Amino acid sequence: MIKSSEEIELLRIAGKIVGDTHNYLKPYIKPGITTNELNKLAHDFIISQGATPSFLNYDGFPASICTSINEEVVHGIPSDRVLQDGDIISIDIGACYKGYHGDSAWSYPVGTIDEDKKYLLEHTEQALYEGLSMVKPGNKIGDIGYAVEKYALAYKLGVVKELVGHGVGKHLHETPDVPNYGNKNTGMTLRKGMVIAIEPMLNLGSADIYILDDDWTIITADDKPSAHFEHTVLVTKDGYEILTKR
Ligand code: MG
Ligand code: MG
Repeated sequence: MIKSSEEIELLRIAGKIVGDTHNYLKPYIKPGITTNELNKLAHDFIISQGATPSFLNYDGFPASICTSINEEVVHGIPSDRVLQDGDIISIDIGACYKGYHGDSAWSYPVGTIDEDKKYLLEHTEQALYEGLSMVKPGNKIGDIGYAVEKYALAYKLGVVKELVGHGVGKHLHETPDVPNYGNKNTGMTLRKGMVIAIEPMLNLGSADIYILDDDWTIITADDKPSAHFEHTVLVTKDGYEILTKR
């Protein structure tokens, strides 16, 4: 799980490509665009950077990014659906550069959103930072999940538990699992050179989810909106470095 300096250099490039792809997409996320169009823009951008989209064909996933709208939690498949004013959309992007991956999801407002959705986006993003603040050598995986869950519960948000963060490297999903819940001082110890993705998925209503008949899209059981914020980070000597920063 400890990456060499050569591997870290490639993971930095992969992460930068993912962050740059988010920056590139952001101005297009407006009412009237389809998620297929966003997928095509992201796909072509990733290829133009000398990388490949990590999600395309991953376990048979049919697109280059995941686009999850409103009550869709994660793994939404791009389609001809047109974004509407007032939607929120979570876009999950992975890129593979010379065999190493980067992974980052972000939730965006489409046009003008209501106060409930603003609240959800603001506090899910902050939950990510609460998790990140626990990343340093000697701390445990459980410290991250504890911080995310404690923050989410303080703001009465539902914490999705069936899906978790993960190690990142030659594979998009590696050991260890990084849950968005847990107990302090439990689980694997973080060490310098580990690379992990932290990715809270929080719901405005209950934590319950289910999967649609397409076998991919996860949605909230109560149809209330869900948000997803994720960074891939390197554990450094005294903290962390965000590899997928914008
Ligand atoms: Mg991930
Ligand atoms: Mg992701």
